[in-house]
Amino acid sequence: MSSIWPNGKRVAVCLSWDVDGESAQYVRFPDRARNQLSELHQRLYGPQVGIWKVLNLLKEYEVPGTFYIPSYTAKLHPDMVEAILNDEHTVGLHGHLHHSLDQLTREEEQAVLVKSQEIFKELTGSVPRIFRSPSWELNRWSPELLVQHGVVSDSSLMDDEVPYALETPRGPLIEIPIQWLLDDAEHWNHHRANRDKAISDPDAVFRLWSTEFDGYYATGGCFVLTLHPFISGRWAYMAVLERLIKYIRSFPGVWWTTLDEVTGWSVDRLAQNQLPIRQSPAPEPLDF
Ligand SMILES: [Zn+2]
Repeated sequence: MSSIWPNGKRVAVCLSWDVDGESAQYVRFPDRARNQLSELHQRLYGPQVGIWKVLNLLKEYEVPGTFYIPSYTAKLHPDMVEAILNDEHTVGLHGHLHHSLDQLTREEEQAVLVKSQEIFKELTGSVPRIFRSPSWELNRWSPELLVQHGVVSDSSLMDDEVPYALETPRGPLIEIPIQWLLDDAEHWNHHRANRDKAISDPDAVFRLWSTEFDGYYATGGCFVLTLHPFISGRWAYMAVLERLIKYIRSFPGVWWTTLDEVTGWSVDRLAQNQLPIRQSPAPEPLDF
């Protein structure tokens, strides 16, 4: 199989984290956030403890990371943002208070996007060009809105295993696909409201992730793992991640990269007419 990746690499691997912190709790469960401390504190484990374990692991294995951060969390934890950038990792936009976009009007969504860009500009001196929607939810107008405001890539849709260009009325948006299976939250996010759900066996999750990687490796895909420091920053789960890094390192021809680098690569491929171009499904069923 001929390689699409730089330098003849056989697969692209992006380890990514959504560093949500306590942000989502305010919009998902505002009454609980107002009155109850426990879940807010559990989520604070991410920026306070988990992120530092993640950064240490990436340093040890010399692997780059991508960190999507709600601007509320970034503003509260500037030391964390600084440490991520000092280690030459990438940061991306991830809303402000982690509103799932289907809860927002177009005007509200635009205001949140602009606010998140302004906060990153203020904190880091530049605005990330990559975006991942909170909870992976996009409105029909979201891709156009992102392009309008200078965002180059999104990583929230699940219809492929390699990047493509999604057409919008204002030009293409690079889409770098993800999936639920490769998200730690589906296996290990555990809180009082879902205590009936069993915590997945870490060995079973390693089998799922490594088997998925085998498929991406065989077909030359872009393997994107989505993690959350407040969830998989715990030791038992960090051990799975370390095991997965070791497993992937045992293969030749792996491009360890960030979603920002894959975005740049995709833009170049698009300019050379070598990136798939897609349209979203019609808003109403087609008439035939
Ligand atoms: Zn998130």
